[in-house]
Amino acid sequence: MSELPVPKWAVRVAEGLGAGPHVVVTGISPSGNIHNLREVLVGEAVANALRARGEEVRFVFHADTVDPLRKIAPGIPESFEEFMGHSLSRVPDPEGCHASYAEHFLAPFEEALREMAMDVEVLRSHELYEGGVYTEVTREALEHTAELRGILQEVTGRAMPEGWSPYLPRAASGKLTGARILEHVPEESKVVYVDEDGFEDAADYSKGEGKLGWRVELAARWKALGVTFEPFGKDHTSRGSSTDTADRMVCEVFHYPVPGRHEYEWISIKGKGPMSSSKGIVLLPKDLLRIMPPDVLRRMMLGRDPARALELDLGEGFPRFMDEYRAETESYPAPFNHLVTVAQTVGEDVDAAAEMLRRGGYEEAARDRETLARDLAYARNWAEERAPESVRVRLLSAEEAREAEEGLDDEQRGYLAAVAEKLSPELDGEAVQDLLYSTALERGLKPKKAFAAVYRVLLGKTSGPKAGPFVAGLPVEMVRERFSV
Ligand SMILES: [Zn+2]
Repeated sequence: MSELPVPKWAVRVAEGLGAGPHVVVTGISPSGNIHNLREVLVGEAVANALRARGEEVRFVFHADTVDPLRKIAPGIPESFEEFMGHSLSRVPDPEGCHASYAEHFLAPFEEALREMAMDVEVLRSHELYEGGVYTEVTREALEHTAELRGILQEVTGRAMPEGWSPYLPRAASGKLTGARILEHVPEESKVVYVDEDGFEDAADYSKGEGKLGWRVELAARWKALGVTFEPFGKDHTSRGSSTDTADRMVCEVFHYPVPGRHEYEWISIKGKGPMSSSKGIVLLPKDLLRIMPPDVLRRMMLGRDPARALELDLGEGFPRFMDEYRAETESYPAPFNHLVTVAQTVGEDVDAAAEMLRRGGYEEAARDRETLARDLAYARNWAEERAPESVRVRLLSAEEAREAEEGLDDEQRGYLAAVAEKLSPELDGEAVQDLLYSTALERGLKPKKAFAAVYRVLLGKTSGPKAGPFVAGLPVEMVRERFSV
């Protein structure tokens, strides 16, 4: 994906990082619907900025599949309470369609990343633990338990419980919480612990029989994977937060440099508020990819600089966003609103759409049929799923049109008949717009009333899309018939 344009802010961030090789990491817990595309896109942009200057880069999406289930996501049955504290990779899929709870939420996100042709390695943390990637850092953490505890207490200002350990062994019950470590046997990569119910057992940390607590894991992960850059949402970087503790842990305990960082701000949805899985305010990547291509989605989610908050408007403001983007990348794009009208008028008939665009004066936009078919699908999905009511149109049948005509007065009938006489297939969108307007003036009819007549016999409404290109795009014979009332 080296051909992706590299945003200026990403070039600046990359300039702040030293010489490579680089490992760019983004991490997300698949504890519910994954909507945090901004995090991954920030990582991708910085990875590409580094690649663009010739660095060797490994770009990793670290799915925190070993994390314990902490709360029940919206829509998940209450019965899942029994899995509280179990690794997400070991909790069943609530809908039974994937191997685990973690996979159920991770799979669609991974699918969206593939659809975006993202050059990223998706790693599952339970596999990393089972494969021994975290063995050495876990041993180090256990050996420096007292120092880690001290850092946590100093930075967060909270007293850590007696017997606190950086490592959470998985008890026979499946729970990662509630055990107390009795002994560390480093030469066997083993801890002996007593579980909540008072039973003594041992866990081999080289085989994934537990995990590091999340604050320690963040620092340990930087070292275990050799991370040089990781973006963070602003909640992770406030005072006393996980990056504050991890920064000290990685320097003082793991003796590894703090990776480069870029903080990103939240995305909110116009009319709803900040995106939040727990509040059910989410836009999933797969839903966004129904209304725009991957390059537009990248631009939309990143904004001008992801350090700024962003409000997404997928309703009324969306066509303007699409037009601005396409004006930069295409030579003669048809306005998105017009595509929306065309898509709703011709259905899935790409040839008819091309013909309608050509007659409306957007010949260039109709040239590449493959791109046109794709753009029409985005326009149609947007109209059906997110457009305001005013943009939704449906061409009336001949019979419906006859009924709609009954609401017209004599002035309007006379106007439509006059337009019908002058219409010809040679007129493009702008010419028809002029014709509709000048005919109204000639006949002393207010333009608003004149145009209302046009919309009424075609769409059964009193307003609609820009009339010129719309009328010009329809077969002249059909328009004449509708207008001769
Ligand atoms: Zn599933």
